[in-house]
Amino acid sequence: MRILLVEDEPRMANVIAKGLREQSYAVDVATDGEEALYQTSVNDYDLIVLDVLLPHVDGFEVCRELRKREHVTPVLMLTARAAVDDRITGFDAGADDYLTKPFAFRELLARIRALLRRDPQLRPDVLEIGDLVVDSANHRVSRAGIEVQLTAKEYALLEYLARRTGQLVSRAEIAAHVWDDSFDPFSNAIEVYMNRLRKKIDGSNSTKLLHTRRGEGYILDVRGVGD
Ligand code: CA
Repeated sequence: MRILLVEDEPRMANVIAKGLREQSYAVDVATDGEEALYQTSVNDYDLIVLDVLLPHVDGFEVCRELRKREHVTPVLMLTARAAVDDRITGFDAGADDYLTKPFAFRELLARIRALLRRDPQLRPDVLEIGDLVVDSANHRVSRAGIEVQLTAKEYALLEYLARRTGQLVSRAEIAAHVWDDSFDPFSNAIEVYMNRLRKKIDGSNSTKLLHTRRGEGYILDVRGVGD
């Protein structure tokens, strides 16, 4: 899942971005409203965390502009003020939820998960593909009852494929939703991570779940596709 974090205070932005990356989200940071609007016009985000107090164009204005451009991406607003008026202005601007600063990071994560769950494709929390179980609330993976240890990025890639079980997922889609702005389209990072996942998930198991369609992309499914 790829998140745009819009926050002008560098320390705050770093702390939130680092925490989200540890939870296997791909994160881009915009430090003002104009940059946020540009980023959302070139990238396809799954969620936007938007600070209200920003230089030049504030968070309310960014949110209004996004909705005017018919962006349906969920928006979670961060506000330093607990005033009812601010919350109402936020919802009227098209925000889906808000969180008052200072907040517990665990609450930010819970609200992000709740907003992402509204997308029917992103339900349920526990995905089962044959004997593979992906528990997205706790980021735990097991195959045939045995826990599989994955890095944050390996997990993000697996969850993205697991939510599209049986569907062909292209390299471009993976790059857009599992990696952030630092992704180099000419790198072989996706292949490298797919190979690592294959070793950890399929290994010597006779039923392979991860399949490659040469030149097209990848499929996670119990049925083979002749690779
Ligand atoms: Ca701010």
